[in-house]
Amino acid sequence: MDHKLQLVVGLDADLKTARIDVQGCLTAASCQALLCVLRRAHSLAADVSLTLDLREARHLETEALEMLGYLPAPSSANATAIYSEVRCVLEGVGVVVLLLPKLSPVCRMDRVPADTYSDVARLLHLHSA
Ligand SMILES: [Zn+2]
Repeated sequence: MDHKLQLVVGLDADLKTARIDVQGCLTAASCQALLCVLRRAHSLAADVSLTLDLREARHLETEALEMLGYLPAPSSANATAIYSEVRCVLEGVGVVVLLLPKLSPVCRMDRVPADTYSDVARLLHLHSA
């Protein structure tokens, strides 16, 4: 499955705040690109306050969240009930406020083929009956 990352970067005219909305899939690989964008945003103004909104992401890999400095407790029985707002300090970026979805999502794209195949299987079954 092709995981595509889409970023919407919003900057205030006075460069006090920057907000990056993450859509699509955030994987360990695409997180590198996201970190570049964060560093870039930080380089515009040293005191810029960065917010990373992950609530609209279709897919968040745990590894990517770890790269962003957010570490879900692995042994927690409550691992899906994560904080909705986390402050992280990233190297070369500084403080980033992460806005997280309540659930740790799996890729919704990955589920599509399974549904498609089961529909096909049902149709085939109907036709052969
Ligand atoms: Zn994905």
